[in-house]
Amino acid sequence: MADIVLDKVSKRFPDGTTAVRDVDLEIADGEFVILVGPSGCGKSTTLNMIAGLEDISSGELRIAGERVNDKAPRDRDIAMVFQSYALYPNMTVRENMAFPLRLAKLDRETTHQKVEEAAKVLELTPLLDRKPANLSGGQRQRVAMGRAIVRQPKAFLMDEPLSNLDAKLRVQMRTVVSRLQKQLGTTTVYVTHDQTEAMTLGDRVVIMRGGAVQQVGPPQELYDHPRNLFVAGFIGSPSMNFLHAAVEDGHLRTALGDVPIGDRVRRQLDGADAPRELILGIRPEHFEDAALIDDETRRRGLEFDAPVDIVESMGSDKYVYFTVEGERASAAELEELAADAGAADFTGTGSSLVTRLSAESPVREGEPRRVWFNLEKIHLFDPSTGRNLT
Ligand code: ATP
Repeated sequence: MADIVLDKVSKRFPDGTTAVRDVDLEIADGEFVILVGPSGCGKSTTLNMIAGLEDISSGELRIAGERVNDKAPRDRDIAMVFQSYALYPNMTVRENMAFPLRLAKLDRETTHQKVEEAAKVLELTPLLDRKPANLSGGQRQRVAMGRAIVRQPKAFLMDEPLSNLDAKLRVQMRTVVSRLQKQLGTTTVYVTHDQTEAMTLGDRVVIMRGGAVQQVGPPQELYDHPRNLFVAGFIGSPSMNFLHAAVEDGHLRTALGDVPIGDRVRRQLDGADAPRELILGIRPEHFEDAALIDDETRRRGLEFDAPVDIVESMGSDKYVYFTVEGERASAAELEELAADAGAADFTGTGSSLVTRLSAESPVREGEPRRVWFNLEKIHLFDPSTGRNLT
C-alpha cells in the first residue's frame, strides 16, 4: 500500500509567505491525482513537501501509513519527474535509465532487465544506445519517465512534466503518461497549471488557489458541480459566462431574460440576509442556435435575441460571441468578488457572451440571431461568498 495522506499540511517560508494552508488530502494507493491552479497557488510547494524537498511547517504527511515529515527524500521511495528532463548528456538512454539502479547497487543482470522492461513500456527500445542530444523533446521526456519507473518506487511525483513540449506533442505525451500510470498502477501526483491536462489525465483533480484547496473530485464532477465561482471559472474552456441576476418576484432578471428560480435555490433565498442579487453562470456549450433545436429541447431552456459579434469556426462547431448589453459581470467586478470570496482570477470576461453552437448554425457577424440556453445546466452563485447555490 502506498497511499499518501496530507493532514492539515501548511508551508510558511522564512520571509513570512504562507504558500500552503491547512491542506487535507487523501490519495489512495494507485490513484492518479492532479494538482492544478493558477501560478503561485502552492501546487509545486505541496508536491515538494511530499517529495521531501521542502520542510513541512505544520501538519502531518504520511506515505503508506508512516509519518514521513522528517524523512530524507531518498528514504521516501518516490520518484520525481520535472519539466526539465535533467538527463546526463554524456550517457546513452540506457545508461541514463540505469543510473538510479546503479546508485541502488543493483546487480548488472537485474539492471539490464529492468531497463529493457521500462524501455518497452515507453517504446524506447530502438533508442537505447542514443545520447540525449539525438532525441526529440518527447523522446527525452520519455527517458526521464523511464528513469523514474525503473526503480518501481512507491509513488511518482510529476511537476509540469510536459510543459516544455509543443502543443501537439503534449497531447501525445498525455496519452503516454495516462497509459503508463494505468499499466503500472503506481500512486501518482501530477502538478499542472493547464486545466485541460487536469481534466483529461487524472482520476481526481485538486483545485488550489492561494495555498488552499478549493475543491477535490473526479473531473466530471468538478465540471458539473463546481463548488464556487473560482472552480466554475477555472474549469472549462472557453470559460463559463457570468452575468448579473437580480432576485425579484421569484424570478431572476438577467440580460438574457427572466430566469425561473428552482426550489433548491429558492430555499436558500429565504431569510432577511439572503442575497438580493446573484451571479448566473452558463457554459458556452449550453447554448444553441434556437433554429436548430426540437420542441422538447426548447421547453428545457430560454431564448433571447442578440447581435453576433465574432464567429470562430472550429470545424465540428463554432464559437460565437454575442454582445450583451450592460448586464454582464465585468472582469474587474468578478476579480473583486474573487478576492473576497475565494473565487477566480477570471479571464475572458469581456463584454461579450461566448457560446458554442453547431457548425450548421448560419450565424453571421454583425447580424442578430436567436439563441437558446439550457436552464437545466445553469449555475447560480452568491456574490458575497462565491458559493454555488445550485
Ligand atoms: P507556478 O505554477 O507558478 O509554479 P505554484 O502553484 O507551483 O506556481 P508555488 O511555487 O508552490 O506555486 O509557490 C506558492 C507561493 O509560495 C508563491 O506565492 C511563491 O511566490 C511562494 N514561494 C515559493 N517558494 C518560496 C520561497 N522559497 N520563499 C518565499 N516564498 C516562496
